Amino acid sequence: MLTDLTIAQAQTGLRAKQFTAEELTEAHLRGIGTLNPRLNAFLTVTAEQAREQAKAADAAIAKGDIRPLTGIPLAIKDLFCTKGVRTTAASMILSPFVPPYESTVTANLLRDGAVFVGKTNLDEFAMGSSNMSSAFGPVENPWKRRQDQNAVLVPGGSSGGSAAAVSARLAMGATGTDTGGSIRQPASFCGLVGVKPSYGRCSRWGVVAFASSLDHPGPFARTVQDSAILLRSMASHDPKDSTSADRSVPDYEAACKRGVKGLRIGVPREYRVDGMPAEIEALWEQGVQWLRDAGAEIVDVSLPHTKYGLATYYIVAPAEASSNLARYDGVRFGQRQDGGDLTEMYSNTRAAGFGAEVRRRIMIGTYVLSAGYYDAYYLRAQKVRALILRDFHEAFQKVDALITPTTPSAAFAQGEKMDDPVQMYLNDLFTVGANLAGVPATSVPAGLDSNGLPLGLQIIGKPFDEETVFAVSAEIERAAGFTALPQIRAGA
Ligand code: GLN
Repeated sequence: MLTDLTIAQAQTGLRAKQFTAEELTEAHLRGIGTLNPRLNAFLTVTAEQAREQAKAADAAIAKGDIRPLTGIPLAIKDLFCTKGVRTTAASMILSPFVPPYESTVTANLLRDGAVFVGKTNLDEFAMGSSNMSSAFGPVENPWKRRQDQNAVLVPGGSSGGSAAAVSARLAMGATGTDTGGSIRQPASFCGLVGVKPSYGRCSRWGVVAFASSLDHPGPFARTVQDSAILLRSMASHDPKDSTSADRSVPDYEAACKRGVKGLRIGVPREYRVDGMPAEIEALWEQGVQWLRDAGAEIVDVSLPHTKYGLATYYIVAPAEASSNLARYDGVRFGQRQDGGDLTEMYSNTRAAGFGAEVRRRIMIGTYVLSAGYYDAYYLRAQKVRALILRDFHEAFQKVDALITPTTPSAAFAQGEKMDDPVQMYLNDLFTVGANLAGVPATSVPAGLDSNGLPLGLQIIGKPFDEETVFAVSAEIERAAGFTALPQIRAGA
């Protein structure tokens, strides 16, 4: 099956003319045609554009002009602006928005020859951990519980559509964004590799903003090597994003082969939380043992402010979101609802355009930024954020990378954890730290729970040292030998 190939295998096959880029794209479009009505992973399928791009890829291959992603079908989270292609952020308020420009990350992928098959579903404005807050309906996780095949599981969020698409073989890789875990958590839930690079590694220009100091674009793929190939194309210094890092982009694919011999790997003791399922604890132990067996030195480390991570995140992220989302006023973008005067038009537009979770975040954000509460909440959260950053800095004096579980549970069912927003926020327990500190982190599929659902391990590294993170991730992948497949996939 062409849809089962990795990106690396497809590159080789295309070069050797075993198949054409058009055939590869058609195979994925067929899968989308069959499975998307059920999975709802794509909000927009760009079949015609994909066919043209594939044709151009075949012409390029014929001329010997082969770039890193020539002819590779990718899915794009519908938070990245794509020129001439509707970009909704899964919100009613942006539902008619067609950007006149291309985000830097997607422009980089197109420069490298990629084929875009469509725009993927997400939690509205990337706020969520289940993809249940999309204005265009939930996404189904292609994986099924062994004991309960009828339960419809969530793919995680917010990048749930991208994760479901790659997992179900509807695209070979995808873009996501990670503000508090939105690449790593869905990667863990869907048995994929997800990479949140260092803050500043991938440009945020043209990505619909959620929380600017926490938003990180990054890739999803089915192997560590494929994720390395994608990140190398996505990353660049971008003068249009003032927080973009002016650093050269290393060969991440080469870093995957380095091994871990002699590396010091930290196990943060504060991540051993009460109530963590025994099988996640056991998988974590197993991951540590794999690295020890491969020649790494394991070191017990402390990140003492870990317990304040979620509270800090859920002040800083809504604060920035409330400011970023002020631009949706019915005048400059998207939908408008009329009103008797300007203020009424604003409130009608925003009440009709935003869903419940987005309204909740805007209210929390404006509250923590308001004159009477700024010092008590926002300012204090900024101070704690500095302490969390210092924890990582100190740990990385002793170790080269950290290993932790990605999530405190496997994928849950649609409807579960929906009544209590705080339950939902607990999903981000292990992932928010890396966003607050801006350090790179991956999730690598490492095993299955007793229900046959994938579980990921998280590798966290020093700022801009994605190479070590890839080396450790590749070792986990080798040792885990994860070959399980989702029940719902193209060609199955
Ligand atoms: N689940 C987190 C939230 O709801 C993270 C989302 C994200 O990373 N975009 O904010």
